[in-house]
Amino acid sequence: MKTLLANFLMLQEVDNRLNVLKLQKGDLPMMIQQLEEDLSERRSRLAGFEQKITKLQNDRRMFEKEVEASKGQLKKNEEKLYHVQNNKEYDAISLEIDTRKVEIENLENKIIQTLEDEEELKKDSSALGQEISGLENQLKENQKELEDINQQTQEEEARLLQEREKIARGIEDRYIRLYERIRQAKDGLAVVPINRSSCGGCFSAIPPQRIVEIREAGRLHTCEYCGRILVWTER
Ligand SMILES: [Zn+2]
Repeated sequence: MKTLLANFLMLQEVDNRLNVLKLQKGDLPMMIQQLEEDLSERRSRLAGFEQKITKLQNDRRMFEKEVEASKGQLKKNEEKLYHVQNNKEYDAISLEIDTRKVEIENLENKIIQTLEDEEELKKDSSALGQEISGLENQLKENQKELEDINQQTQEEEARLLQEREKIARGIEDRYIRLYERIRQAKDGLAVVPINRSSCGGCFSAIPPQRIVEIREAGRLHTCEYCGRILVWTER
């Protein structure tokens, strides 16, 4: 049990030092992650705009072809009008001409609509493009900053992680799990020494009888209030 407690304490000390290194990075990792998410959302929105623009352009080409075909028909009908034999035929051709004209007008309106929609989309996508490049710059800056910090701390972090692994190997899995569980729930602090008869984590007082038991280290003791593992140290 004493070995376990000593290992627990060493593990906690290494984790505390790792935590200090992590704190040096501050919000940077989180900011970078957020920026990456924002960027990917905007990039897919931009791709959506581009798809819509392509569709509008295709639609417009189709409408333009239809207009051309309709105009061809209209011309034929207008020529026919010169050679009509009777009123009935004249009326029929006139009706067809009117229909064509309406058709052409509708198509031309559709073409104008695609032009307007495209212009609107291009405006939106250019604004979005600017937003994206702004975010990209910000991301680059943050990545650079984090990289600098990483370069400074990398070596120490690697050494601490190695040390941590070595200590962790000497602790049974179930105790590692217990340690991790408390550490996660309690702000990274799972193992605490007793300071002035109080829990080193939450500072609540510990009765003298319990302190004696904890000193004896016959079994694992956790703080009644915060649940952290209590360890007696001769400091
Ligand atoms: Zn406590």
